[in-house]
Amino acid sequence: MVQGMTGSFRLMKSLNRSLVINIIRRKGPISRTDISKQANLTPPTVTNIVNDLLKEGLVKEGRTGASKGGRRPVLLSINYNNHYVIGVDVGTGQIRVGLSNLNAELLNRKKETLPAGIKAGEFMTILYRLVDDMITNSDVSRDKIVGIGIGMHGIVDEEKGISIYAPHFDFGELPLKERLEARYEIPVKVENDARCSAIAEMWFGDTRANPNLVFINVGDGIGAGVILNGQIHRGHHHIAGELGHMIVDLNGRQCTCGSYGCLHTVASGIHIRERAIHEITLGRSTALREMRENKEDIDGEVIYEAALHGDEFAEELFAQAGRFLGLAVTNVINFLNPDQIVLGGGVMKAGAFVMKPLVETVNRRALTDDARKTEITVSSLGSHSALLGAVSLILHDVFEVQDR
Ligand SMILES: [Zn+2]
Repeated sequence: MVQGMTGSFRLMKSLNRSLVINIIRRKGPISRTDISKQANLTPPTVTNIVNDLLKEGLVKEGRTGASKGGRRPVLLSINYNNHYVIGVDVGTGQIRVGLSNLNAELLNRKKETLPAGIKAGEFMTILYRLVDDMITNSDVSRDKIVGIGIGMHGIVDEEKGISIYAPHFDFGELPLKERLEARYEIPVKVENDARCSAIAEMWFGDTRANPNLVFINVGDGIGAGVILNGQIHRGHHHIAGELGHMIVDLNGRQCTCGSYGCLHTVASGIHIRERAIHEITLGRSTALREMRENKEDIDGEVIYEAALHGDEFAEELFAQAGRFLGLAVTNVINFLNPDQIVLGGGVMKAGAFVMKPLVETVNRRALTDDARKTEITVSSLGSHSALLGAVSLILHDVFEVQDR
């Protein structure tokens, strides 16, 4: 939190406040009397907290409820459209920025391609331009924007708000939180993008409130967000969930990380594309040859299209990725035994071509019958999941007790 920050929006550290606002969020519209019963708080305490929330504009009074004798009670609900959050999702080749209300509904969004090996200065220029654009080109007054959440690929120190290592960019540590707070004077939170997606699943996905879940992003890079007992698990050195570097092939190829046989080298979007181009060069027969004049232009979309038309090679490209992902998922199940595993990212757009061999591998390899029945799904949040997760970083501060 920025010290001495100005503006009407003040977040209070209070357990009771969090209790009340979350009852309104989950059960609203609701009367003060019902809140005090459900929160087990005295009516004057609830009235005080509600008065503060009304003053902050976080809660609004709406229609009146049924009378149980006496005056009809006024019902309270969350005022989702009085404060806004900017979310940023920095992927390996693309940056997405969106303006969201407190219900994670995106009012405005933009995306831009990021060149591989981008330098820090150039990256910050693009980031500032996109955030400036969200602020100036939205019908929302600037003092209503309460924070910026950033989901960044690679290794992130979320406490300091620093990007430690972004493998596709040409820069070292980048103090994103410090830079953006100095420029915009609102709180900024930074988190790894796969962890953001895991948080989004918990807040907005079909898995809502599932306390033990693993979100696996399978795109050009592979990463996972681990939620245990409702809390994000980051590990001692910020690398928990670096599933792309789980070793699945002892004799495998060298990975970008320097090690050999990492999941990244056999199941990432980059690998699928590279293998397609490599085998076509070696003379492999496939419809992909005719579908793209220049084999360098082959991407996930055209491979998917070929697979849909029954091209065996295209199907095999996804199937191999699916089998290796199945090994990784089996390892995750045997090691963490989560309630659910949710997959997202560009490669998962191939749907059953990846999911079928993945689930078959888990069914053959997981330890027990129950382990084999672990729910494995594709995210319903689509390509916005990391962006929504970035927004949730700030929502967490609005709705939950702040722990620091
Ligand atoms: Zn690796």
